[in-house]
Amino acid sequence: MYKNPIAFIGLGVMGSPMAQNLVKHQYNVKGWNRTLDRSLVTQAQENGVEIVTTIAEAVKDADFVCICVSDVPDVKEVVFGEQGIVHFAKPDSIIIDFSTIGPQAVQEINDQFRSKGLHFMDAPVSGGDIGAQNGTLTIMVGGEKSDYEKSLPILKTMGKNIIHCGDVGTGQAVKLCNQVLASIHMMAICEAMELAKTLNIDPELMIKVCSTGAAGSWALSNLAPKIASSDFAPGFMIKHILKDLRLVQESLENDTLPATNLATQMFKTVEQLGGTEQGTQAMIRAYQDSIEK
Ligand code: NAP
Repeated sequence: MYKNPIAFIGLGVMGSPMAQNLVKHQYNVKGWNRTLDRSLVTQAQENGVEIVTTIAEAVKDADFVCICVSDVPDVKEVVFGEQGIVHFAKPDSIIIDFSTIGPQAVQEINDQFRSKGLHFMDAPVSGGDIGAQNGTLTIMVGGEKSDYEKSLPILKTMGKNIIHCGDVGTGQAVKLCNQVLASIHMMAICEAMELAKTLNIDPELMIKVCSTGAAGSWALSNLAPKIASSDFAPGFMIKHILKDLRLVQESLENDTLPATNLATQMFKTVEQLGGTEQGTQAMIRAYQDSIEK
């Protein structure tokens, strides 16, 4: 059966396994990464992603172009830069951006793509590196319904829960709500861990018991055990959650989310402690730091 050629731009913690999942489902994938000398790029190549050295080479024959880079200027760079996607993508191709960059930026990008006869959807994801590896991500899609339907077979190789949220920008809007939930929830986990310690309860016991009750969650089951063993490897880096919380602030007309502000402060403390590339579970370091002081 014919499978559309796909370009994948950005083979980082998320992009590399997502591209590999496309290959597992027999798609021909050309991958491009700014830095070639990265173990995630080698891993993608070993698992069948054809690594190319220019964006032009990746996108020129692709029916779908996937993007997964970091922040707003980075997406703009790979889209509009001198060597960017917009100059080389095939007419009528569908560009899907999985990066978290907020609703305003994707509207702007969509306007430019549409004016060139290209189709664009925002499709930020949730589920972390584990979800990307297992193909079980939640994918929040904003874009034309017809583009969404055409893209569904490829999205299904990467995600388990794929939701069309509405027009371009709505995927990003829902993702920012997700980040507010995740950030405040991380504070709840850290505080339960600190309380367990104070009350001489083994944190592992608290996690086991509370995970099965009304306070159970993905984060409690997956990230709290990492806190208990002081494993701060990412996962989802502090620098990325701070980016997302900045996007939340930029989307607000007034400063109306006090708990989000508090969570932002805690993540910033970890950043000051040198933890910018640690996972979000390193928020516990902010609590431990305040106790030491
Ligand atoms: P990452 O491992 O840091 O990868 C970032 C990727 O973007 C790398 O391929 C990097 O290339 C590329 N990049 C950054 N700036 C660039 C630029 N100016 N030009 C070209 N390429 C550039 O990050 P990640 O964890 O995969 O995250 C990617 C996106 O997914 C982010 O928007 C993040 O918020 C979102 N996300 C991440 C997770 C997670 O758990 N990690 C979960 C949900 C959503 P180099 O290798 O050259 O640096």
